[in-house]
Amino acid sequence: MRKKIVAGNWKMNKTLDEGLALASEVANIANDEITDDAIAVLCTPFIHLSAVGKIVAGSNKVFLGAQNMSEHAGGAYTGDISADMLNSVGVNYVILGHSERREYHNESNAELASRVDAALANELTPIFCCGESLEVREAGTHVDFVSNQLKESLFHLDAEAFKKIVIAYEPIWAIGTGVTASSAQAQDMHKALRDGFAAQYGQDVADEISILYGGSAKPANAPELFSQPDIDGGLIGGASLKARDFVDIIKSY
Ligand code: PEP
Repeated sequence: MRKKIVAGNWKMNKTLDEGLALASEVANIANDEITDDAIAVLCTPFIHLSAVGKIVAGSNKVFLGAQNMSEHAGGAYTGDISADMLNSVGVNYVILGHSERREYHNESNAELASRVDAALANELTPIFCCGESLEVREAGTHVDFVSNQLKESLFHLDAEAFKKIVIAYEPIWAIGTGVTASSAQAQDMHKALRDGFAAQYGQDVADEISILYGGSAKPANAPELFSQPDIDGGLIGGASLKARDFVDIIKSY
């Protein structure tokens, strides 16, 4: 059975104290209220990771994630963070290729392929983001566009490595806009992506890949999104900054 995952992307929000308060609240409610069907991942800014790692250490429901990492193992890369450093503070997951980073930091599919390799080599699970702009959606080429992002960054992996990836489909037009993709739009894309994985790696492998939806998900729309057969959880931005909303989204399972 595929893992159901709800990851919170805090982005560049919360001071250290605010972040620790949020993480403690999420951990307390989640440990009490979420069932074994789903797990939560807190993707915090780098400065929070070490301390949040201590709060979630030992939990089998709440895990730690970073929002980015370098493809380099170490050295003269001012401002960057390596996989090894993330490992040293107990990080389990790393978001790669978020559309905000693709846009503001010009991250390319090829560069992201190297980051995926570095993450896997260090036993970090990539939450690999993909998604189209409104322009691409309106042109009707969204499936090709997103499939190509995944092909160029992931299809060099062998099946064993590919099975370790978590995909997050996040239509850019739905991120932080309050406009959510309809459950049918999201399901159609998730199904198309899974079919592409099946063509490349076989149906057994494709059936093991968790594909999360991201884009203005909230407690009110999560139940319908999560009831779709190919939606295996969510990557949550704004609503992950409120513990109650975040846990209620997870409880939608
Ligand atoms: C995100 O940035 O990954 C995201 C899904 O944001 P929001 O939930 O705020 O749309």
